[in-house]
Amino acid sequence: MAYETSAPNLPAPSAETLARFTRIVGDKYAISDPDIQEPYLIEWRRLYHGKTPLILRPGSTEEVSRILALAHETGTAIVPQGGNTGLTGAQIPFEHEVVVSLERMNRIRSRDPRGNSMVVEAGATLAAAQKAAEEIDRLFPLSIGSEGSCQIGGNLATNAGGLQVLAYGNARAQVLGLEVVLADGRVWNGLRALRKDNTGYDLRDLFIGSEGTLGIITAAVLRVLPRPKSRATAFVGFNAVEDAGRFFDLAMEMSAGELTAFELMPRIGLEFVLRHADGTRDPLQSPYPWYALIEIASQREDGAAPVIEALLTRAVEAELIADAAIAASLGQAKAFWHIREMMSEVQLHEGGSIKSDVSVPVAHLPEFLRRATDAVLAILPGSRPLPFGHYGDGNIHFNVSQPVGMDKTEFLSHWDSVTEAVNAIVLEFGGSISAEHGIGRMKRALLPRVKSPVEMDMMRTIKQALDPKGILNPGKLL
Ligand SMILES: Cc1cc2nc3c(=O)[nH]c(=O)nc-3n(C[C@H](O)[C@H](O)[C@H](O)COP(=O)(O)OP(=O)(O)OC[C@H]3O[C@@H](n4cnc5c(N)ncnc54)[C@H](O)[C@@H]3O)c2cc1C
Repeated sequence: MAYETSAPNLPAPSAETLARFTRIVGDKYAISDPDIQEPYLIEWRRLYHGKTPLILRPGSTEEVSRILALAHETGTAIVPQGGNTGLTGAQIPFEHEVVVSLERMNRIRSRDPRGNSMVVEAGATLAAAQKAAEEIDRLFPLSIGSEGSCQIGGNLATNAGGLQVLAYGNARAQVLGLEVVLADGRVWNGLRALRKDNTGYDLRDLFIGSEGTLGIITAAVLRVLPRPKSRATAFVGFNAVEDAGRFFDLAMEMSAGELTAFELMPRIGLEFVLRHADGTRDPLQSPYPWYALIEIASQREDGAAPVIEALLTRAVEAELIADAAIAASLGQAKAFWHIREMMSEVQLHEGGSIKSDVSVPVAHLPEFLRRATDAVLAILPGSRPLPFGHYGDGNIHFNVSQPVGMDKTEFLSHWDSVTEAVNAIVLEFGGSISAEHGIGRMKRALLPRVKSPVEMDMMRTIKQALDPKGILNPGKLL
């Protein structure tokens, strides 16, 4: 399944080494009981199930530093873990690695509304960071379906994307500075709140998206923004995906940077949500093959509603949209978003699901969707493609639910052939086989096939320089 690579040949740490690790955090924060370890060792999709001799829950940067110094001395492999919501198995150990969970390091260290920044520890959840910004009348614009559980450290280590990248950029764009513990235990204090700093190589960007393989992020200076004064949300139906594409072009033209979300969903996705998510209802009167959830945010109190109304009027005149509902209240906007947010979870109720997280240049998306759907159905007739996601970023989660009645294991045995077919089309369009979820364990074997030898060599050189003993998250990414 999923291009699985074998576990690296790791030695198990000795009982004495484990006792030394435990002493750093204290018995209370070291977990060796398998029952208590369980939630840290299985991930959201139940694709990866790991083992570990020990989980450590440090409470300070100094403790993380001492853990890595000891790991470096003893050659113990370490898996950094945030909220355990990653979707490529990168946060799950194979067998002998010690897991370092950042969950106790969850303080908001400081907030500076005039400087539009805040210093947040790696273990703070994304939702807590958003709330901390809101309390000083600022917006922290990173927003993803797992925001109640995922942590800032995990968001940065995966360079998370999500629902508002179109307007605000991905996780990388939200960071001004970092504090990182290096593989040998040294602490790099790069907590600078500067917008401009051209003093050599950009070390900060090296750690963002490094999936726990170069260092443990312990804190970050995050950029925040003035909060929008008005928002307007609409749920739009299309007769064809090409219409959605033309509507997106129009929305970009008319909203002058205020379009914060453009999320595409197919009819089958809405049907799954209506079937499995309590309290949901179809926002439109009739069914349509495709939908988009769009949002406009404005810095003016009365700014967003006129823009969305003008946009939908023009789209109706141009016969781009079949129907649309504008949210009349905050509650209705939330109900529209709930449909989008449930799109991943409800697939669990429909049997096996083969997942791809891909991107292509946005103008090619309609053609990509048609060709990838045809290719999947040719391999697995009766399977149910459910491509959805961040249309505005050219990023589609090309998921495929199993044919009704098929054995789940038999279906999942087609994982590699289905993702191969989708990826081949992605690469034809000059796209990426991992738009926002990273490489982890799931796509590690694919990386050398999509990166040039020069890129692979540069990445290995950086890894060797920063983690010469290869103790940080071995068997992931590289
Ligand atoms: C319902 C759902 C919706 C999602 N939607 C999106 C989405 O829209 N966009 C998106 O990009 N992702 C999405 N994800 C994936 C996931 O939430 C993100 O990848 C998230 O950034 C992972 O954060 P985490 O704290 O859970 O990290 P984990 O899963 O714990 O770890 C992920 C990786 O980061 C490393 N890591 C964690 N913390 C640190 C640290 N402090 N220092 C160094 N390395 C660290 C781990 O070793 C691992 O390699 C979704 C997941 C779910 C379950």
